[in-house]
Amino acid sequence: MEQDDAAPDEDGFWLYDLRVETVIGDRPPVCRHVAGEAFRVEGENLVFEAGQRVSMYALAAVLPLLPAKQRMTSPNDWMSTDAEVACPDPHCGGRFRITRLGKRYFRHAETTGLPDKRATPYWQAGQDARTDDSSDS
Ligand SMILES: [Zn+2]
Repeated sequence: MEQDDAAPDEDGFWLYDLRVETVIGDRPPVCRHVAGEAFRVEGENLVFEAGQRVSMYALAAVLPLLPAKQRMTSPNDWMSTDAEVACPDPHCGGRFRITRLGKRYFRHAETTGLPDKRATPYWQAGQDARTDDSSDS
């Protein structure tokens, strides 16, 4: 497993920000897939720029993989090497290409629901405190 960059005295962890971009495979799309449309994943949030859309049926296929893709994985893990997820419609050529961007730091106490560990949630405590935009997926 990749080394966590958090200092030993800190209670935090890093997650990759992701870019999820629509690409078209070897068949024409059935659903509304427009090559180049994209959204980002920042922590728990899906971030869409104005005008960017995604089919909810296709989104259902990619959503379960995003939390794993956000985390540090072994270079030999398929989660590290495989970047494209197919639309669940077997007749559709739509794909999503997931790219790891920079890393974002979260403190445990700002993200947990455990009552004895909980502090002010990160999104109320001035989030985006630390990012590392060097892409090293
Ligand atoms: Zn599709």
